Amino acid sequence: MKFGGTSLANAERINRSARIVQRFSPSNKIAVVVSAMDDVTDQLAEIGRLAQKGEARKTKQLLAKLQNLHLNTARSVGDRGSRRELLDKISQLNTELERTVDGIGHLRELTPRSKDYLLPFGERLSTHIFTAALQAIRLKSRSLTGAEAGITTDDNFGEARPLAEVSYHQIRQRLDPILARREIPVVAGFMAATVDGSITTLGRGGSDYTASLLGAAIGAEEIWIWTDVDGLMTADPRIVEDAAVLPNVSFWEALELSYFGAKMMHPRALQPAAQKKIPVRIRNSFRPARLGTLISEKETTGAGRVVKAVSMIRGVGIVTVSGTGMMGAPGVAAKVFQTLGSNGINVTMISQGSSEAAISCVVAKKEVERAVRGLQLALLGQGYVEKIGKEQDACIIAVVGSGMRGTPGVAARVFSAIAKKKVNVRMVAQGSSEYNISFIVSEKDGPEAVRGIHEEFQLGTLTSKKIVLC
Ligand code: ADP
Ligand code: ASP
Ligand code: MG
Repeated sequence: MKFGGTSLANAERINRSARIVQRFSPSNKIAVVVSAMDDVTDQLAEIGRLAQKGEARKTKQLLAKLQNLHLNTARSVGDRGSRRELLDKISQLNTELERTVDGIGHLRELTPRSKDYLLPFGERLSTHIFTAALQAIRLKSRSLTGAEAGITTDDNFGEARPLAEVSYHQIRQRLDPILARREIPVVAGFMAATVDGSITTLGRGGSDYTASLLGAAIGAEEIWIWTDVDGLMTADPRIVEDAAVLPNVSFWEALELSYFGAKMMHPRALQPAAQKKIPVRIRNSFRPARLGTLISEKETTGAGRVVKAVSMIRGVGIVTVSGTGMMGAPGVAAKVFQTLGSNGINVTMISQGSSEAAISCVVAKKEVERAVRGLQLALLGQGYVEKIGKEQDACIIAVVGSGMRGTPGVAARVFSAIAKKKVNVRMVAQGSSEYNISFIVSEKDGPEAVRGIHEEFQLGTLTSKKIVLC
């Protein structure tokens, strides 16, 4: 079971989440993964940024707020017997956090490596609090960091990749004995370590990934992700009022959605579970009686609907390489991608018109400038590329559903729905899996585009009953 930040936002919610574990624990062996308390990771990132800029006063203020949040929460969690020990641990970690921030402030340097040391403090703190909450209701439990749970990664700080076989072996070695004693391991999500012990992170939202890795390693029966919505929905409920819960989705569909849904789930989180065919359930910790969404191998048609969900990813930009000399010139695309690849820039979407006079790539907004500079150095002045253009305020809209495969007319409906909303489409791509159609619109038009598609395919009426019946 993994509990997200909103399910741990204060003492009351932490206690409620602990009771969920209790409810299922007599008849199951449970391993728990926790995120940081709500918003803590963002605040840690902000503290790092302020310290690096030398803004000592603001840094201290925000740091104190964070330290107090954890101390105060710890005071209202757990029982008398364990509270002293818990408060000691929180104070120790608070001191270590302060030293880390001081270090960044003195050096005025925040490298990917030091940032990976800083950000997981949220998880390190919340594991201890959650463990105390479990102990207070008589559940034997102990906290572990990502490394202590056995997760080993490469040294790609900020977005580290787990070394699967080593990690699986170690996770079993560490967790099996704990589970066998019927204790509940409470593992800090999002964080891991390299072979030589440097702390790494699995990318933002990475606690989902931790849960999936642990589940795959120990051969869990199911992996449950407890969050603040009833499950995976037809659209982000913050954008579409009548978004409906999807009771069943396949791993493929969920992968497309999580990749393009940006925040709902970590994009790589489903890989380990899918590989080992372990069903993943997304459930609401505020309404635990609901069954949530079951993500499994089974493909369901969603009551004959071709489109199941629509999602949006913000914070991207487009880089376009163009020139009439590119027409019929072999190797230009290779050069473009090689340049981006060797600069460590990930390309999310590609499109090239058949005139071959332009290639557009979607990259993260923060990488746009670097991509343009890299491409200018590599390509300009060689006779075929004339211009390298950029657009920074874009977002990707992805329309997902396995029923789209081989069904004619879906793209036409998608784009006429967008046209009806008077939204301009800047770039289009369809994955060859035909599980999704994705396109780019300006960032401000994103929510309206999502609503347009949701209406056109009447996704809000996709109720659980209809799906179960089919
Ligand atoms: P947690 O803290 O539990 O990890 P997140 O904030 O990471 O929670 O993810 C849950 C949020 O994702 C929901 O509150 C919802 O607003 C958002 N979201 C975006 N797209 C979807 C979707 N298709 N289905 C459900 N939730 C979505
Ligand atoms: N706390 C981390 C983040 O906010 C990881 C997670 O929540 O999954 O990105
Ligand atoms: Mg999350």
